[in-house]
Amino acid sequence: MFDVDAIRDQFPILSRKVNGKPLVYLDNGASAQKPKVVLDTIQRAYAEEYSNVHRGLHTLSTISTENYEAVRGTTARFLGAPSEHHIVFTSGTTEAMNLISYGWAAPRLQAGDEIILSVMEHHANIVPWHFLRERQGVKLVWVEPDAKGDLDPQAVLDAVTDRTKLIAITHLSNVLGTVVDVKTICHEARAQGIPVVVDGSQAAVHMPVDVADMGCDFYAITGHKLYGPSGSGAVYIRPERMAEMRPFLGGGDMIREVHRDTVTWNDPPMKFEAGTPGIVQTIGLGAALEWMMGVGMDEIAAHETTLRDYARSRLDGLNWLDVQGQSAGKAAVFSFTLQGAAHAHDISTVLDKKGVAVRAGHHCAQPLMQHLGVTATCRASFGVYNTTQEVDVLIDALELCHDLFA
Ligand code: PLP
Repeated sequence: MFDVDAIRDQFPILSRKVNGKPLVYLDNGASAQKPKVVLDTIQRAYAEEYSNVHRGLHTLSTISTENYEAVRGTTARFLGAPSEHHIVFTSGTTEAMNLISYGWAAPRLQAGDEIILSVMEHHANIVPWHFLRERQGVKLVWVEPDAKGDLDPQAVLDAVTDRTKLIAITHLSNVLGTVVDVKTICHEARAQGIPVVVDGSQAAVHMPVDVADMGCDFYAITGHKLYGPSGSGAVYIRPERMAEMRPFLGGGDMIREVHRDTVTWNDPPMKFEAGTPGIVQTIGLGAALEWMMGVGMDEIAAHETTLRDYARSRLDGLNWLDVQGQSAGKAAVFSFTLQGAAHAHDISTVLDKKGVAVRAGHHCAQPLMQHLGVTATCRASFGVYNTTQEVDVLIDALELCHDLFA
């Protein structure tokens, strides 16, 4: 039985005040707070069990290595991946996308080849493909959502030509909250032999993910949004794609042998993890994923659907507020602008005075901002510990903004 009060009790930061008011943390889309079990795991990993991983033969190195490597299995379970061997640890989605761009795409794509993207992508799923455009003459093909913010999977598939070599698409827009039917895209693309990279940074926080059922080739997640540490993350890679990939970063751990004139690679996934990794970050990520699975991904999704419906009904009552993205099945992520002159930064500053933390700006999604015809929005993004009472605090604070700026 989902009990939001019991969940909140596990997050020490939620009991603090900001500007004299109880904290209402609605910036989960940027980064989520951490439950005590994650904080305790990090503390224990440093205070009692810390050493470098892999090559060491002493006790602490063995413990660290076991704890670190166990997270591969946890991540595979969390993502529905068939095996832990399909999981590569990263520092987050940004590194994952660069790994795929340099390791898989760069050696295969040629001038005139095409990558399909949606305009809803985060810069992390845009800029690594721009590198290929700049260096190799690869063409980026953009697909737009409809007026409600929904992305028709058929529109993505209609953009396929005989030069399409990759589709890179978000599972959940960090600005609009739109959930994309990536399964349809993956299955159709696979039938045509086109790999699909899915940016799961936002989706994996809010709903159960099953990469085997989805049929994607790559699925990236980032730990700090998943109630885990910053600097942690992982990417599921289909074994055929892994076999095709060149290493991206070179250094310790990713090699088998190094000679003056030659070098050979370690087996995947180690081949793609160079140098000392984020040991404690990854161990903390494991604790966060276990915690989420313990709460239950279906339960988290159901709670956030309640929050979404309540927030949507209250925001709809503010006729001086424009909410971007009205997709029926969206997540509890609301980007909005206030009619009149108030800049998103001003709104965010006023909300902060009331203890309400939201994000203001372009949300690392400038092509989407251009598509929407705005330069910035305010974004309230909900998480597992938020409540309908906090929606009311947000609405009261927005009404104050309206009084101040109208
Ligand atoms: N993709 C999406 C949809 C995001 O929301 C974010 C983070 O805001 C990222 C990618 C980048 O994640 P990170 O900065 O953790 O690498």
